[in-house]
Amino acid sequence: MGADPCANHPEAAALALCRRCRTSLCDPCCTFTVNDDVWCEPCGRTLEEEEAKPRFTQARVVLAVGLTIATLTWIVPMRTMETKNAFPLYVLSLFAYVVVAVLASRRAERGELRRPEIARRPPGSPMPRNAVRP
Ligand SMILES: [Zn+2]
Ligand SMILES: [Zn+2]
Repeated sequence: MGADPCANHPEAAALALCRRCRTSLCDPCCTFTVNDDVWCEPCGRTLEEEEAKPRFTQARVVLAVGLTIATLTWIVPMRTMETKNAFPLYVLSLFAYVVVAVLASRRAERGELRRPEIARRPPGSPMPRNAVRP
């Protein structure tokens, strides 16, 4: 046990496996820690790039759809019906919009919590808590 070599350095013993691609890694090859897991250089960099992209969250889509529906339920009756008939619909659509907005912001919050903690790991530093042994 423990005799597995690093995938990049056959002369070096592997200390951990990459959490994502399960590659055997020696100490200097454990370059990323993600939520207390070890990630290799290519996997870590890919994740970093993904996280750097602006997110069109589901929350924003829900918010946009909700706003559109709310606006339509207001505008359409205003143009086709008497104004006094449209008023309850307007109140209803406003209420629906508030509900949608609250649900959307909750989703956004949860998405924020799910963001991984990505860090560069200096060689020789302690292995993160959840590091997978080879
Ligand atoms: Zn990897
Ligand atoms: Zn290595």
